[in-house]
This record gives sequence, structure tokens and C-alpha cells, in this order.
Amino acid sequence: MAIAPITPSQYELVENLFMTSAPRPLIAGNWKMNSTRSGAVELATGLVDQTVAQGPLPCELLVCPPAHLLLPVLDVVKGTNVALGGQDCHAEPKGAHTGDVSAEMLMDVGCSFVIVGHSERRTNHEETDGMVCEKAMAAHRAGLIPIICVGETETQRDAGEALQTVGRQIADSLPDGVGSSNTVVAYEPVWAIGTGRTPTSQEIADVHAAMRNQLVARFGSDSDGLRLLYGGSVNPGNAEEIMSIDNVDGGLIGGASLKVETFWPIVQAFA
Ligand code: PEP
Repeated sequence: MAIAPITPSQYELVENLFMTSAPRPLIAGNWKMNSTRSGAVELATGLVDQTVAQGPLPCELLVCPPAHLLLPVLDVVKGTNVALGGQDCHAEPKGAHTGDVSAEMLMDVGCSFVIVGHSERRTNHEETDGMVCEKAMAAHRAGLIPIICVGETETQRDAGEALQTVGRQIADSLPDGVGSSNTVVAYEPVWAIGTGRTPTSQEIADVHAAMRNQLVARFGSDSDGLRLLYGGSVNPGNAEEIMSIDNVDGGLIGGASLKVETFWPIVQAFA
């Protein structure tokens, strides 16, 4: 009798069953306020096709479409190796908050992650570390993994305050109870987002090492495996170098996540 080959999602199930070590690296695509229903379905389908052709992936793969495109994208990625996430959530589970989406609502439509504290939210919606912390708690309450974003502005870096700024954001934006399986942190220097400019490898390594030390000091040795993503102008040309830096456990990708041709080579950087 012929035995059917194991599918990628079955492989993940088996792998998770026996997983004793830290979670795999994560590559997350933040689509921001982009795409249409047909464009989103096309992009998600292209990614799923690549994962099927590849088989077991070297990393976990996540897409975060705008809220109204979550369901059409879910139709495409359900049962595949591509996970679904929201771009933001409200701190409350429900209520009179016109235009907002709660963590529970994201969970209800098939999300497993949510980005919180992205610098565009911090700047455009005046979100403070305290608000970001409440959103991260909401994500935990709903059973979602928050991707908590931190990062200095150009002025802060030029003033030699990058480590101090990120340290303060980590201290004030992360709730108690953080661990390697329930939280991801993304270092995204504000000046590198969408600009084509990136810090040097040494600068990224310095910030990630400082974040790791701070996490282990507060949350204990389990946070040794907590995934620290780098985000800011990652592209197919620089992904391999950035992803090989110590304490970089994946990437949060904006512009390059909008096309399979630019997103897939970044996934491959872990191969
Ligand atoms: C982002 O906004 O999270 C991001 C990293 O954007 P980009 O990759 O376009 O710099």
C-alpha cells in the first residue's frame, strides 16, 4: 500500500508535538494599508504555492493584511504553513470603540499574531508605551501572540540614545508574563522604516544583545528563546546578512512583503 507523503501542515504538527527547544525564526509581512481583495488573495495564493513547493520551511511565516482582508486571506492560508495576524488591536475585548478591532475579534477570524506598538501607530495615533503594554495584555488575554515593536528615531540615534530609548520602550511596553512562546519583540528603528536605509550589522547586534539581556534579567532564562525580529528596509539583497546577526530571530517586513518575488527570497534567507 502506498503511503501518502506528509503535508507541510502535518509536518508542523509533528514538529510542534516534539518541540522542546525555542520557537523557529519568524518572518512576518506587514501589509499596512495596502492591497485590494483580489490583490490580497493573489499574494496569499502565491506565498502558499511557494510553501507547498518548498515543503518544510526554515522559519515560521506570517502575513498581516489590513483588517477587512483577513477573511479572504484566511480562506487561502487556512491549513497551510502561512499564519495570519492583525496589524493592531484595541485593549478592550468589545464596546463603544468605533473603527477599532479587538484581540478577541482577530482571534475569531483565524489570527494567531497581532502587531502592537508599530512606530506608525505610536506616531500617527500617539500611542504610548503604556497603551502598547495594554494592547499586548489584550493579545495575551485573547490567546494571540503580540509582536511588540520598539525602535529609536533618527534624532535619538544621532544623540547616542538608541539603547536607552529601546531599553525604556522594552521596560514599559512589555507586560508581565512574557515568555518565548507567547510574545515576539521587533526592533524597528523608525528612521529605517520604508527609507531604504538600515543600521550597520554591528548596530543591530548591539541593540538585539541589549534587548536580550534586559529580557532575561526581567523574565528569566525562558526569554533566551523569545524571538527578536529586526524590521526596517529588509530586502532580498540584505536579508541574509541581517538574519545571520546574533540574536536576530527573524524579520518584520513592510514594503518587500507586498510581492512574492521580494518576500520569498527573504524567507529563503534562513534556508
Ligand atoms: C515596517 O513597517 O514594519 C517595516 C519594516 O517596513 P519596511 O520593511 O518597508 O521598512
